[in-house]
Amino acid sequence: MKIIINYYCGIRKENQLRQAVSKLNGMQRYYYFVLNSRENDVCPTRVVNWQEFTRKNSSSQNAGEYNVFITEKPFDDSWFSHEESQYAIISTFGWETQFAPPSLRAYLEYQIAQAAIQFELDIDELTEMRMIHRSSVGCLFDFCGKKDEIKLGMRAGVICPKCKSDLSGFGINPDAIDSIEKMLGLVRAEAIGKPFLLNEKDAFIVMRYSRNDENDNSYRYGIKPALEKLGINAIRADSVINSGQLLEKIKKGIERSRFVIVKVDSENLNVYFELGLAMGLGKDVLLVSNQDYIFQLPSDLKNWECLTYTSGDYEELSKKIERYYIDNYHYTC
Ligand SMILES: [Zn+2]
Repeated sequence: MKIIINYYCGIRKENQLRQAVSKLNGMQRYYYFVLNSRENDVCPTRVVNWQEFTRKNSSSQNAGEYNVFITEKPFDDSWFSHEESQYAIISTFGWETQFAPPSLRAYLEYQIAQAAIQFELDIDELTEMRMIHRSSVGCLFDFCGKKDEIKLGMRAGVICPKCKSDLSGFGINPDAIDSIEKMLGLVRAEAIGKPFLLNEKDAFIVMRYSRNDENDNSYRYGIKPALEKLGINAIRADSVINSGQLLEKIKKGIERSRFVIVKVDSENLNVYFELGLAMGLGKDVLLVSNQDYIFQLPSDLKNWECLTYTSGDYEELSKKIERYYIDNYHYTC
């Protein structure tokens, strides 16, 4: 689901918003957030009146399009945000002076996650009100009658079991729930001051190679240039400059990278160990193999999608890698 995040380009904390959107995109793949800077704040008046905003906005809202508006102005009802089935508005007013920490960035991430689940949910207000917790339990669906109760939800960073089962009952796509939970994990880490070490623009490459062999060349002339073209950093254990054992380096590299690419065309057991590690950590793993080897893959991997290329044809490999990330992760060249 593509969601446009509209904001006024004169917003004071634009950088925090940019970081929030980049992190949210880097955490999951169901939602794709696109920033759209506008000339003026979405609300021309001093305070935002939600009914008035709805009246104005519903006429300019295109069918099938989802919009989130970020404003620095307060709501006349002093709420944090309001949502409709296809658009939402979030106010940053007063966050830093009255509520932070957690940071404004974490607040934006939390509010955007909330809007994103509402867009997917699309139920009427009455049903929603039945679902919401009147007393806060630290769930994304807390009512938060007292405003700073929102911090409880940010620190817990969860959808509670009851709401999760409600969501499934409403037929929500499980991938959407999974993505929201990943976003909440990010908010939680920030809210409890535990740094969340995920480099959303890194891809870690698992392979065994010696200089100028097929694997080394496939990396240098196929995988790396393709990723760089998309703005993704390719990291191979040898390009990480720090001391420590190789395995430790590899483990860290896998943990902290958004993507993992595993070149499986060798019988090297370390490669399979690292592949298992990446899969166990829930990483987005792409298998790459040359065509001749694909039939020799271990049976567990036979049904896993594997990108293949003809040995020596690194241009073909490069194009396929590029296509894969464009098609699956909304990357553009
Ligand atoms: Zn709940």
